[in-house]
Amino acid sequence: MDAAARTALAERYHSVRSRIPPGVTLVAVSKTRSVEEIKALYDLGHRAFGENYPQELREKQPMLPADIEWHFIGHLQTNKVKYIAPFVHLVHGVDSIKLLDELDRRAAQHGRTQDVLLQVHIAAEETKHGFGADEVLALGAAPWSWKNLVVRGLMGMASNTSDHAQVLHEFEVLRGVFDQLAGSFGPRFDTLSMGMSADVKEALAAGSTLLRVGTAIFGERDYSAA
Ligand SMILES: *Cc1c(COP(=O)(O)O)cnc(C)c1O
Repeated sequence: MDAAARTALAERYHSVRSRIPPGVTLVAVSKTRSVEEIKALYDLGHRAFGENYPQELREKQPMLPADIEWHFIGHLQTNKVKYIAPFVHLVHGVDSIKLLDELDRRAAQHGRTQDVLLQVHIAAEETKHGFGADEVLALGAAPWSWKNLVVRGLMGMASNTSDHAQVLHEFEVLRGVFDQLAGSFGPRFDTLSMGMSADVKEALAAGSTLLRVGTAIFGERDYSAA
């Protein structure tokens, strides 16, 4: 990275920050970004980073400062939990009982209590993962049986559409489920992860407490180089 690239990164970062009210967490989504780019943002004072691919995260983590909070935001397969279980700060996309079982087992193995978010399917598209709203409400009503996991909140992804009203509506639905669950998972249920570069505004309007922003901070992703 040259000086111009660092300046551009700092400008984009501060511009994103300036739109985010205090109390809302910003996770910088660093999938496909080099260790050098992540370190450059770290040097600006940023500590929370999000990755989508377990092997990529496992490779980057030891090359970067130990005080980074790593968020796993992608779809997690049970056979990949082992790559991130020793250090991951928050697992956002928990969408099955099988995954809860495996995360709980690995957390116990590492002597950790693992914070997780339950992913709720709110988009119109069939391809997005997540529990149905009825399923998370049922989980909230039943006794909790994964003693090494703490449910910190919910995560959702809106439809990939330019219809801002629809996106806002989907986020509001998620917010409603979040509010209904208040208290069900204990006092630490405080995180509503929704909003990415394209829909920060709608997410904040609907009460997001955590934004996952990649492109608006780092620029367009180049998957061919990853
Ligand atoms: C890639 C990704 C993001 C960030 O997307 P941008 O459009 O680059 O801000 C946020 N959340 C999830 C789950 C992602 O996969």
